[in-house]
Amino acid sequence: MAQPRIVIVGGGFGGLATAKALKNTPAEIILIDRTNHHLFQPLLYQVATSVLSPNQIGFPIRGILQDQKNATVILGEVTGVDKENRCVFVSDADRKNVPIAYDYLILATGASHSYFGRNEFEKFAPGMKSLADAVAARNKILQAFELAEAEEDPKRHRDLLTFVLVGAGPTGVEMAGALAILIKTTLKSNFRRIDPALARVVLVDMAPRVLGPFSEHLSQAAKQHLEDLGVEVRLGHGVDQIDADGVVIAGERIASKTVIWTAGVAPSPAGKWLKVETDRAGRVRVQKDLTVPGHPEIFVIGDTAAFEQDGKPLPGVAQVAMQGGHYAGKLIHSRINGSKPPAPFRYFDKGTMAVVGKGFAVLQSWKFQMSGLIAWLAWAFIHLQFLATSSLRLSVFLQWAWTFLTGQRGARLIVNHHASEPASTAVREALPAAAGGK
Ligand SMILES: Cc1cc2nc3c(=O)[nH]c(=O)nc-3n(C[C@H](O)[C@H](O)[C@H](O)COP(=O)(O)OP(=O)(O)OC[C@H]3O[C@@H](n4cnc5c(N)ncnc54)[C@H](O)[C@@H]3O)c2cc1C
Repeated sequence: MAQPRIVIVGGGFGGLATAKALKNTPAEIILIDRTNHHLFQPLLYQVATSVLSPNQIGFPIRGILQDQKNATVILGEVTGVDKENRCVFVSDADRKNVPIAYDYLILATGASHSYFGRNEFEKFAPGMKSLADAVAARNKILQAFELAEAEEDPKRHRDLLTFVLVGAGPTGVEMAGALAILIKTTLKSNFRRIDPALARVVLVDMAPRVLGPFSEHLSQAAKQHLEDLGVEVRLGHGVDQIDADGVVIAGERIASKTVIWTAGVAPSPAGKWLKVETDRAGRVRVQKDLTVPGHPEIFVIGDTAAFEQDGKPLPGVAQVAMQGGHYAGKLIHSRINGSKPPAPFRYFDKGTMAVVGKGFAVLQSWKFQMSGLIAWLAWAFIHLQFLATSSLRLSVFLQWAWTFLTGQRGARLIVNHHASEPASTAVREALPAAAGGK
């Protein structure tokens, strides 16, 4: 008899956890992802700020699953689901909307940026969700220093060296801290005509405090530490405008050539594919066993699912996705094997952390709270543990140790994937003057 087929869409935290939980299940597993790598999103900001290279936080999915003989990996973009005929539609560079049949389906397609209805901001304030986004942010940041060094007019230095981050959640706070350290230490003695230490990092949020999910005490400690690093923290007002010249906050224009969006996220369109009930954000409302009502064979997990526990929705964090993926895998295994199914899903909150600059983090787990160096060491240890492979763990550990001790960041390359992109208009304008031209 043919084995049941389990199709997993998404090789992120949730999808991979499902695949691994099905390692010993007599089934054919097909994992489909539109990228060929699993990405450790919590460290994207370290790629954007040149601490790590892209290959240190991403790893090929087929490499991770190479020893799992019942799993096949397909590179392709899922564009829809036919619930009645039990198939998903997959497109790749070669073929469009090819149906792939399933007996069980797990949708773990994550989230993307949300500009809260102001999509026109995206052009001027790119977000950070993928490796390409992080490399683009790194290019933009490093290029700003290059443009300033080449710029003859000192009045333009200030605009070029003002970096605005919109959103003071964990990503914005971590990015602001890392950017401040990059400016103060690594770049300090690299330039001759500008002083990188004069650069401004402005962190903006409409909320009254940074790190909303943390306690007020930790949020205050993080803000203080950011300010000690020289970050300007502007709270209580959202951005009214973002354009090529910078941002407008509460009527005040902040001139900047580098604005990065570190605010909202929107779930993938899984709810639209399935035509089922979603919450206001568009996340699929799932039952206590993470399945879609009326379809015990369809599971939705991670950032794209809305699951309430004790009257509150679960947050969009990696642990929720991993635990959900593990649960879905166990439940499917029990159904295929005819064994006792696990009890309804329950998320176990192991705590939340955010790092602020060098050697300082905040950590909150139930009633326990901590900030400072010990919290940072715990943060480093836990993040290393959750990287996809031991080679990544070793490489990131060595890189962190080197950067901590020397302040050096090796990944300071401006990589434009399209050679035709202007490296810098200002360079072309400024160089003839610098060379004694007109
Ligand atoms: C910058 C940043 C920092 C973060 N920091 C933290 C942190 O410090 N701690 C924490 O716990 N969480 C953090 N998160 C959140 C965490 O990364 C997510 O909660 C987690 O990744 C969700 O897992 P997931 O499996 O639902 O989705 P993801 O891990 O996003 O995986 C989704 C996968 O689906 C694939 N996919 C999407 N659509 C399709 C499609 N149509 N067809 C095929 N494949 C598709 C994607 O390529 C991706 O591989 C951060 C997120 C970001 C963006």
